Amino acid sequence: MPFGHDMVHSLSTVVDLINTSPTAGGEECLSDLGQLGELVERWQVSGVDELGSGDLAQVRALRDAFHRVFTAPDQAAAVIRLNTLLGETRMTPRLTEHDGHPVHVHYFAPGASVAEHLAADCGIALAHLLVEGEWERLRTCAAPDCDRVFFDESRNRSRVYCDSRTCGNRMHVAAYRARRRA
Ligand SMILES: [Zn+2]
Ligand SMILES: [Zn+2]
Repeated sequence: MPFGHDMVHSLSTVVDLINTSPTAGGEECLSDLGQLGELVERWQVSGVDELGSGDLAQVRALRDAFHRVFTAPDQAAAVIRLNTLLGETRMTPRLTEHDGHPVHVHYFAPGASVAEHLAADCGIALAHLLVEGEWERLRTCAAPDCDRVFFDESRNRSRVYCDSRTCGNRMHVAAYRARRRA
């Protein structure tokens, strides 16, 4: 199924955000404002003023809330968890055109902090995914020593590893060795 560019961008952002956590990625990759600044750059989170220590704590808390949506036992639980998150987020939908992107909708309220911006725009992208019945595309890597999350964009929802070039290869090599030993 085709996902719009905006949707893919927001979902990629939330995946990257979750994977900065020790519980998903294995180490804390949002340990200071410099790393938060890099995340803001990487995903072109617009309208962000100077970052403060409050931003770091807020984004880390939001990261955990998003992670709980990914790891919900079923779609009904994911809906409840996402509704809690959306209910705590100020939003002001408006059409915008910036940085050469075609006209699209922004959801974060004017003057939003970086956490509020991410909660609104990524939260709405996840809401659309749930409405489409595509919650199962939010996955945790199947490699036994990897808890990274990913968004499965494949046609038949067949992706099981966070990154086929690393975890996928590693698992294929392990399976090959196991077969040779057998
Ligand atoms: Zn935009
Ligand atoms: Zn992995």
